[in-house]
Amino acid sequence: MHDVAVAGGGIVGLAVARALALRGMRVVVLEREERLGAHQTTHNSGVIHAGIYYAPGSLKARLCVEGAAALYDYCAARGIRAERCGKLVVAVRDADRDRLDELERRGRENGVEGLARLGPDEIAAVEPAARGLSALHSPNTGMVDFGEVAAAYAADLREHGGEIRTGAAVRALVERNDSVELAGTGVRARHAVACAGAWSDRLALASGARPDIRIVPFRGSYLLLTRPDLVRGQIYPVPDPALPFLGVHLSRTIAGEVLIGPTALLAPAHVDLRATLRWPGTFRVMRRWWRTGVRELAHAASRRLLVREAARFVPAIGPGDVRRGPAGVRAQAVGRDGTLLDDFALARTGRAVHVLNAPSPAATASLAIAELIASEVVT
Ligand SMILES: Cc1cc2nc3c(=O)[nH]c(=O)nc-3n(C[C@H](O)[C@H](O)[C@H](O)COP(=O)(O)OP(=O)(O)OC[C@H]3O[C@@H](n4cnc5c(N)ncnc54)[C@H](O)[C@@H]3O)c2cc1C
Repeated sequence: MHDVAVAGGGIVGLAVARALALRGMRVVVLEREERLGAHQTTHNSGVIHAGIYYAPGSLKARLCVEGAAALYDYCAARGIRAERCGKLVVAVRDADRDRLDELERRGRENGVEGLARLGPDEIAAVEPAARGLSALHSPNTGMVDFGEVAAAYAADLREHGGEIRTGAAVRALVERNDSVELAGTGVRARHAVACAGAWSDRLALASGARPDIRIVPFRGSYLLLTRPDLVRGQIYPVPDPALPFLGVHLSRTIAGEVLIGPTALLAPAHVDLRATLRWPGTFRVMRRWWRTGVRELAHAASRRLLVREAARFVPAIGPGDVRRGPAGVRAQAVGRDGTLLDDFALARTGRAVHVLNAPSPAATASLAIAELIASEVVT
């Protein structure tokens, strides 16, 4: 019998499995797809977030700051290319300035190092094509290929005696007196951890946990800038606090491309549509953000609108400078009342831990999330 079985072979599941194997436990990862990391892990913008946005004291704030530092060290030790390309959050209107003050306050309280406020000339010195009234500069924000990171976690796991089974869909975690059965796979273990991304709510429900959330998937698609030399690092707008996401931004990737986006559309077809629509929170979230929904739909329909949004802070970008880019589906937990669950969320049942909400910056924070869960399982 294994010590721990991990359901889900994305970056979070692999990081958790690795951390446990490094502690000497016999670990198996069960991944439903035929390959590891097929979902969010390889469909994201590859930003190593520094920890600016998150509410001080939240898991996101702590685990992002700790996780980013651990990730840079890990990449250096494993020879994975990661670069501190830096990030600007740019205020383009007077109304943005107060919010930028608040972001700076949060970032400092979260322990983000190197933050600086820049005026218009200093903005151009960091990002020559960017324009704005004021900006927050985070030199430790960076970029990496999270698929490569996840593959390295998998290699570490195997090196420490861990096992990985693909094509192994877990139907439920069934707890017995002395073990947990991973239904559908024939595996039993003393403990189990579920890291099922967009399916985490369903797996928790099937396992008898009572999570008062549902995953409502949001599809985010990007354009690619055909003039990537216009952008050196990460350029973001000041987010609107009334909206759930960070706003249309420009993101250089470690592969040298520049993404513009994302759009944020409800993408219920990705999982069980009926279950998503039955959850009262889905309607509430749609009602609350219907204006955004309309705007995002317009973005999806019109490159011109997405480009116009980006051109607010990089005016040299025009509609002829983009082509179709990649897309990913974000797994976002929503409460019964329609609020988006902002923080990472874990639930513990007798012998199992369920990761219920691991949206961005969970890839950045993966090593720190893994330490937290490994200490939960070991105690
Ligand atoms: C568009 C987009 C941009 C993003 N940008 C960033 C960014 O720049 N920086 C950052 O830090 N984060 C970013 N994120 C978030 C980040 O990608 C995720 O937080 C992270 O990948 C979550 O990892 P995960 O392992 O929980 O989920 P996933 O990678 O989705 O893995 C879950 C795995 O569980 C498997 N699974 C599900 N159910 C079962 C089952 N029953 N049995 C077995 N296996 C199962 C799935 O097949 C899947 O492989 C972004 C996300 C998106 C979508």
